[in-house]
Amino acid sequence: MKDTPHVCSRCIMDTTVPDIEFDENGKCTYCKLHDLLEEKFPGGEEREQRLKNMVEEIKSRGKGKKYDCVVGVSGGCDSTYLIYWAKKVGIRPLAVHLDNGWNSEIAEENMRKAVEKLAVDIKTVQVDLEEFNDLQLAFLKASVPDVEVPTDIGIYSTLFRVAKEENIPSILNGHSFRTEGSVPRGWTYMDGTYIESVYKKHGKKKRLEHFDNLKITNLISYVFIRRIKEYRPLEYIDYDKKEAGQLLEKEVGWKDYGGHHYESIYTRFVASYLLLEKFGIDKRKVTLSARIRSGKMTREEALKKIGEKPYPIEKVQADKDYILGRFGINEEEFDDIMSAPPRSFHVYHTSYSTIHRLRFFIKIACKMGLLPDIIYEKYAK
Ligand SMILES: [Zn+2]
Repeated sequence: MKDTPHVCSRCIMDTTVPDIEFDENGKCTYCKLHDLLEEKFPGGEEREQRLKNMVEEIKSRGKGKKYDCVVGVSGGCDSTYLIYWAKKVGIRPLAVHLDNGWNSEIAEENMRKAVEKLAVDIKTVQVDLEEFNDLQLAFLKASVPDVEVPTDIGIYSTLFRVAKEENIPSILNGHSFRTEGSVPRGWTYMDGTYIESVYKKHGKKKRLEHFDNLKITNLISYVFIRRIKEYRPLEYIDYDKKEAGQLLEKEVGWKDYGGHHYESIYTRFVASYLLLEKFGIDKRKVTLSARIRSGKMTREEALKKIGEKPYPIEKVQADKDYILGRFGINEEEFDDIMSAPPRSFHVYHTSYSTIHRLRFFIKIACKMGLLPDIIYEKYAK
């Protein structure tokens, strides 16, 4: 029997998070990070003014070009809201979708309706399915919790590449620390070198041929040479997911699918089963904690919610059958994956130490607004 985890006195992050620390009042590292970011993104008039400036900057950078910015879309609430917002303030977005083959039907429908209703062009980029499946399976075999990194890096990289190819100077990112919080490094770590190293060890071909990877050198080229800039407008908007969902239902016929990032079959299986059962990681703690800190939910409500199962067990089973079929593995092989001892990204080759060495430059780049602040707080500190 595992010990009962110690829980933060303000949010519901707890000692299932590696390296979490608590201050003398019992408040956790992530509450502290939230307060720090809250200071950087103050409320009221100042926030409104900064949002206005951001909109003007995006428009002026896009002058004379076909699009002002690239927006990644998934059919989820945040990204759909982002293109809705962009159109509303007069920004001309190109919606970009990375199709990794795991979209649920609702997600596809949501995307189709939104771009049609909002009259936004969309560019869909398909992954090489055979290689991508093998890369995802390699991460399962690697026994690390970072199994969604191929998708996350793939999306990030695709946005930059499309921006470069189409000569679009800006990217809008739908992340907000207020609604999403920040995922602990021990729960998700990502970088392009890590992907290569996991694939080399556990992939069929050892070397990725088609995957659009993003290594530090690529990022430096996109950000500092191409001057592609990322913006996170939701951090300046009093954005409430529930309200946004209702608005989108009314305006563009968007449909809720019942969970954060559940638009992807693989993601919902990973979040509601694999991470929980194998690693004891419940990522709902991150988003629920963010909602507590932003005053959208009480700590009691969140604790009650976390006590419930994230996804009905019969649906988990259906997703699992589908996933095993796609990866071409049987129940026994999957059981071996589930029972293998968990490992950390530290046992693989990554760019972690390089990023750490470059932390001074990263801090400056964040200060200059070339990189989002969270990059420094999460990776370099
Ligand atoms: Zn906390």
